[in-house]
Amino acid sequence: MRPQELNCLFAPVASLPGVGPSIAKLLAHLVGERVVDVLWHLPVGIIDRRFAPMVADAPEGAIATITVRVDSHRPSPRHRPRVPYKVRCSDESGTLDLVFFNARADYIEKNLPIGAQRAISGRIEHFEGRAQMTHPDYMVPLEDIDKLPRLEAVYPLTQGLSLRVFGKIAAAAAARAPELKEWLDPSWLKVQAWPAWRTAVRTVHAPSDHGELAPTTTARRRLAFDELLASQLALALVRARSRGLPGRPVTGDGRLRAQAARVLPYTLTGAQKRAVGEIAANMAKDERMLRLLQGDVGSGKTVVAFLAMLIAAESGRQAALMAPTEILARQHLATIQPLAEAMGVEIVLLTGREKGKAREAALQGLADGRIALALGTHALIEEDVAFRDLALAVIDEQHRFGVHQRLMLSGKGRGVHVLVMTATPIPRTLQLAAYGDMDVSRLDEKPAGRKPVDTRTIPLGRLEDVVEAVGRAVSSGGRAYWVCPLVEESELVDLAAATKRHEELAARFGKKVGLLHGRLKSAEKDAAMADFAAGRTSILVATTVIEVGVDVPEANIIVIEGAERFGLAQLHQLRGRIGRGPASSTCLLLYGAPLGETARARLGIMRETDDGFRIAEEDLRLRGAGEMLGTRQSGLPAFRLADLAAHADLLEVARDDARLILARDGELESPRGRALRTLLYLFERDVAVRYLRSG
Ligand code: ADP
Ligand code: MG
Repeated sequence: MRPQELNCLFAPVASLPGVGPSIAKLLAHLVGERVVDVLWHLPVGIIDRRFAPMVADAPEGAIATITVRVDSHRPSPRHRPRVPYKVRCSDESGTLDLVFFNARADYIEKNLPIGAQRAISGRIEHFEGRAQMTHPDYMVPLEDIDKLPRLEAVYPLTQGLSLRVFGKIAAAAAARAPELKEWLDPSWLKVQAWPAWRTAVRTVHAPSDHGELAPTTTARRRLAFDELLASQLALALVRARSRGLPGRPVTGDGRLRAQAARVLPYTLTGAQKRAVGEIAANMAKDERMLRLLQGDVGSGKTVVAFLAMLIAAESGRQAALMAPTEILARQHLATIQPLAEAMGVEIVLLTGREKGKAREAALQGLADGRIALALGTHALIEEDVAFRDLALAVIDEQHRFGVHQRLMLSGKGRGVHVLVMTATPIPRTLQLAAYGDMDVSRLDEKPAGRKPVDTRTIPLGRLEDVVEAVGRAVSSGGRAYWVCPLVEESELVDLAAATKRHEELAARFGKKVGLLHGRLKSAEKDAAMADFAAGRTSILVATTVIEVGVDVPEANIIVIEGAERFGLAQLHQLRGRIGRGPASSTCLLLYGAPLGETARARLGIMRETDDGFRIAEEDLRLRGAGEMLGTRQSGLPAFRLADLAAHADLLEVARDDARLILARDGELESPRGRALRTLLYLFERDVAVRYLRSG
């Protein structure tokens, strides 16, 4: 149950003064539906109305508050409503015209009677040598001068919602912030010289100069820390709980792994061996494993997963590997099946395409335990898929899955160990934010013999040269991906671009050109992939469906059209499709000129480095964490107040604090623990509260 004192914050926005149904709708669109959503919407600017010059001294463009006398009215001519209504005013130094478009004459007459003194605030313009102000923000009689704010916070807004209206609503929300029992450690609070929560909330909504908008102010840092602490505490609680579950140690005898080493066409890298060792040690414990296997594209995660799966098989139990797309699931099958067969281990594939008898047989085999290993897509988590004794669940490209999908797979057994894999090189800071204290194995070494990719940026105007070059490379035995840009969020438009490019290239190079996009039927996708893998086609025009994990070692060229539209992480993923074989490879980034500053920086980084971690850090720097991966895509929690680029230092402190808190007061029952429960509710991490004995 949410603590009573928070109810006023979780009430609908309509409970705030001045919020009727239509404004509530705009707010829902802009910030959310509850008072707390308004509270978390922080100002990004400030309007300073303290500048009060004489008319003659008011510079063009400045925000000024000027005291004037109303001299005369010049309404719009009768049948020409487009001509503005003008009110001429003056002080001793000169005249100021107030300009109103589509004005209601009665309103102006009433508020600006001739001869009256008014304080007028707004932006000064000069028009035909005269000072004027269009639609002043404020026009108040001198006795009401207090109603004219000296400083006004500026918020990101939405069409139809004015700053004036939102400002009042935000102030009302801030005024409503209750006094809450302090949840931060008193000595930490003192060292940081942070204000109490309620003061911090009020302060951030009432900035008094531009410096107070920075993420580094004490008030903003305090709120960011509160949010990070809530998130880390929630992760730690969930984690402590899953650690506490009765474990089922899995210790294979090493027989299959030894055999695998003999049938593998290469030797494992040091990093791969280390990762397998860490996983084996982890699975052997009587605690459930929750481990992240992180490795840059092409670092060889699949074989590590396979060896981990063999540990389960060695001990007579089962393992499943879930991939986000059918292409990937089939590719894993192609890699793993020959090995498994050579070793006499049964393996089965389950995707949306396995139907009827084949599916029945697969389900039967998994249910009775005859089949040890399962590969597949989301089809693996369908309700009727059951295992006799699932010991290990592996999730490939985990950022493509939601947490609940991960849980659904591991829920198909008792005490199932979980290995999640990602090629998205999440910087350390973000990793902590996303997973808390998860165990990590890192593949920081690429298989031997990989050559660096030669990356070049080329303006689209030189498309013809690029086509020529690709043609030459292909005729001397090369193989090329041609990636078409993401034109819009619409698959159809992307598709049209890819189809067109395919036609053009096919007209030139004939049957050697294949086409792959998300709208093809699965069998057609497979065929396109298989043709390219086998060299029956040597140019594969594709949308970004090839981004994730596709592995054709012979491919040595990738052309990325509209490269400026892709994020760094995505470009890196795409480029990772090449440079996997012995031939030297080239990545051509085609861009539409002129390039914006950020796009230029991004392409520059791509030319400079192929180190996924460095690229991820740069991406973070260029874009800020929120945007970096897209919350949905990355599985990162959405932060409302914390900015991981600016508050990274706080994240580690929050992690350590969360650990310490749970070590001392695992059930959050001390007075501070109780206050921390309120914090969890405040940031809606209350699912975690359920893990406490007395939630
Ligand atoms: P990712 O980590 O991106 O999922 P993959 O598992 O798809 O990478 O492996 C990329 C390629 O590297 C595959 O062709 C795989 O066979 C090969 N590979 C993996 N490990 C090694 C190794 N130790 N030596 C040589 N090639 C390897
Ligand atoms: Mg992979």
